[in-house]
Amino acid sequence: MRTTVGIIGAGPAGLLLARLLRRAGIESVVLESRDRAYVERRQRAGILEQGTVDVLRAAGAGERMDREGLRHDGIELRFDRRRHRVDFPGLTGGRSVTVYAQTEVCKDLIALQLEEGGPLLFEAEALVVEGAEGDRPRIPFRHQGREDVLECEYVVGCDGFWGVARKAFPDGISRVFERSYPYAWLGILADVAPSHDELVYARHERGFALLSMRSPAVSRLYLQVPAGTEAGQWDDKEIWEELERRLETDDDWRLERGPITQKSVTPMRSFVHEPMRHGRLFLAGDAAHIVPPTGAKGLNLAAGDVVTLARALVHERETGSPELLDAYSATCLRRVWQAERFSYDMTTLLHRAPDATPFDARLQLARLERIASSRAAETDLAEAYTGFPLA
Ligand SMILES: Cc1cc2nc3c(=O)[nH]c(=O)nc-3n(C[C@H](O)[C@H](O)[C@H](O)COP(=O)(O)OP(=O)(O)OC[C@H]3O[C@@H](n4cnc5c(N)ncnc54)[C@H](O)[C@@H]3O)c2cc1C
Repeated sequence: MRTTVGIIGAGPAGLLLARLLRRAGIESVVLESRDRAYVERRQRAGILEQGTVDVLRAAGAGERMDREGLRHDGIELRFDRRRHRVDFPGLTGGRSVTVYAQTEVCKDLIALQLEEGGPLLFEAEALVVEGAEGDRPRIPFRHQGREDVLECEYVVGCDGFWGVARKAFPDGISRVFERSYPYAWLGILADVAPSHDELVYARHERGFALLSMRSPAVSRLYLQVPAGTEAGQWDDKEIWEELERRLETDDDWRLERGPITQKSVTPMRSFVHEPMRHGRLFLAGDAAHIVPPTGAKGLNLAAGDVVTLARALVHERETGSPELLDAYSATCLRRVWQAERFSYDMTTLLHRAPDATPFDARLQLARLERIASSRAAETDLAEAYTGFPLA
């Protein structure tokens, strides 16, 4: 098989890249190791920044998102049993975010790709990337038990943190920056209307809690748990009781309970691989960087990378100049490090570290008080949460 751009991975990064290239008339083939049902069901992110929403719309993939997505104009911070709302449009000149699950973004992009796009092969596992330094990089892959090779002009590793593309960078070139946290998120999906109409981020002496949602009828809630916790260690009653404790306020707000339909644990990690390009191989999304989910940035960073890359590939085709491709890694990394900083700030602002001292706890409260009482501090949070420019 031959194509212009060989894309490994049909997560949000790979699917959106294929869509953007298709719209620009550039051929691609997407290889995805899992089956379609698995990719469409994998519960992950749910908050789309304004820039991501705009890109999906411009790519012709926004119709259902515009119908079913929930526009959110703020978040609530909870601490000391008090509530403080951060008003995004008022602080950022009109920006907001949209609650629309990653599963739905993927379903929409998969349907479009299969209808109008180039080949998207499920159960096609890339085994390695060869020849990134030369003119014709190759991806040997196994598709439904048969071995084949995809020859390309460019390879893009959109294959997530555990993929193969990053491994094709020679040792002397790769630099890795990482941090893991001694806690994780126990997440649940519950068939109950969200108990608040915006996301609630709660800092509590017992640990962090987040009230989020997937739709007007489905709540998504998270509890900070120690790293290494298994989802089965918590029964449903314990989860609801702990959520109630951590989200409790001094007014008459109440948490509604409902049947829990899914439980999972997400580890917390910060990770950046530099550079994001080697020869004709590019990394995008989780293949190059991971953020802890507290800042809701993972999916949005993936979108930012592929917008930058699609623009650079189009520029090269139209002008013959590799200038934007050469700048790809540095352009993306500027945004990535801002997202790393914000995700780290939100994580350490709201979680209780196992070795936290009373001094650390007071500092956290002082940081929260500062956001609640200073327009400048609050604006900093609102700008970062609603998103950095995509390119
Ligand atoms: C459990 C979990 C919960 C998360 N929760 C949130 C959240 O609440 N908010 C938030 O903003 N972000 C969250 N994230 C992060 C967000 O989901 C990711 O940043 C986003 O999925 C990145 O998209 P991607 O396309 O780069 O990678 P992925 O979505 O990981 O997609 C990579 C794709 O590549 C495929 N692949 C891997 N190896 C190969 C191979 N060798 N050959 C072919 N295909 C391959 C995989 O099957 C996968 O489909 C979460 C992540 C995880 C893991």
